[in-house]
Amino acid sequence: MKNQSLTCDSPVFNQSMMSADSALDFLLGSALAPVKTKVVGLDDALGRVLSEDINSSINVPGFDNSAMDGYTIALGAQHLEKVGLSFAIVDRIPAGSTGNELHEGSAARIFTGAPVPKGANTVIMQEECQLSEDGTQITINRTIKLNENIRPTGNDIVEGGIILNKGRQLQPQDISLAASVGVGELRVFSKIKVGVFFTGDELVEPGNPLTAGKIYNSNRYALVALLKQVGCEVINLGNIEDKLQSTIDALSSLSGQCDLIMTTGGVSVGEEDHVKGAVESLGELNLWKIRMKPGKPLAFGKVGNTAFIGLPGNPVSSFVTFGVFALPFIKKMQGNSQHQINAIKVQANFDCKRARPRREYARVRLDYSTGSAQANLFPKQGSDVMSSIVWADGIIEIPEDRTFTAGELLNYYPLSELTR
Ligand code: AMP
Ligand code: MG
Repeated sequence: MKNQSLTCDSPVFNQSMMSADSALDFLLGSALAPVKTKVVGLDDALGRVLSEDINSSINVPGFDNSAMDGYTIALGAQHLEKVGLSFAIVDRIPAGSTGNELHEGSAARIFTGAPVPKGANTVIMQEECQLSEDGTQITINRTIKLNENIRPTGNDIVEGGIILNKGRQLQPQDISLAASVGVGELRVFSKIKVGVFFTGDELVEPGNPLTAGKIYNSNRYALVALLKQVGCEVINLGNIEDKLQSTIDALSSLSGQCDLIMTTGGVSVGEEDHVKGAVESLGELNLWKIRMKPGKPLAFGKVGNTAFIGLPGNPVSSFVTFGVFALPFIKKMQGNSQHQINAIKVQANFDCKRARPRREYARVRLDYSTGSAQANLFPKQGSDVMSSIVWADGIIEIPEDRTFTAGELLNYYPLSELTR
């Protein structure tokens, strides 16, 4: 993180309310790219981010081969455009073996993936070949073209080309492609370590009885699950007593061993909130009021050299701000070149008659029954209503400062985009 970019003289801090876009730009501008890497085997590569381009040293396929179980034939010019030709079967080529050279006018039994022998120039699927009773020849009752059902050398991958780019987060198909060119290990960025703890004297751990005025600590479980799902190593200090010194101690112990510290709650201006004071005493803190709903307060700073993100305490706000702000920041720290979250356009199935002063991230479910996707709102959109997220399949962005009627195309983020 750049020191100078965190000073409160920065223009973005002079606004009493910051736009969600400026906050995200600022966060991404501060995210440090990773430096540490390690080599992992293909079975351990899922979800990791490549730290170098991967080239292929071979063609795939490495030889012309049959796309079908059938017969391969060495055609001459006289065989083209004719129906009902017969060819003697002189060889049999299963996958994994090689056949002998075929002379013009002869055929060989061939199986999917087997190399097309020298001299052969087409493959006809077995369903289209009539085998003679003694099994020595085939007849084909249609015209035959050159190069039917032959997968040419390098059809998938050409030797020397880049098959996977640095910064790619590896999916099963990527691992398959690496294996197909014989690469058995991949160099990836080391996992980032995220330290978390939680404050609030109202919080009780699930499994214990609730007493008057208390609530269960749900953010703790949401945040740890989200961080694990996005491939972070999590150091969880659990609940920390809502006292300044305890909070300072928790931050100090995490800053020595983590790349990022995250908390939820405790960063509003309430007197019981010590996270703000504790971060300030050890580093720097910027408290942003973001023009968005849910999730107005967001804290960003550093403790020593470790980045700090304080999410709001309300469960929906905390979940949404994780997806919108913390996730792109984390992905950039992981070296992921695709760190921005991607919106798709869907139609709002509701009006917005009164312009909203803050951008709203509303919980919706898509309905495809009329053809194009229509977004329906969950009836309760409060920042405390966690069941809205469980019901929803995504979040729709209701733009600030304007009205619209049903049918308007808006940005929609599937929950999968915001949580992994
Ligand atoms: P705060 O930002 O600490 O003022 O919290 C805002 C709201 O979120 C309050 O209603 C808190 O009780 C609630 N809250 C804070 N932390 C958690 C948590 N870990 N789990 C569930 N609710 C929380
Ligand atoms: Mg609190």
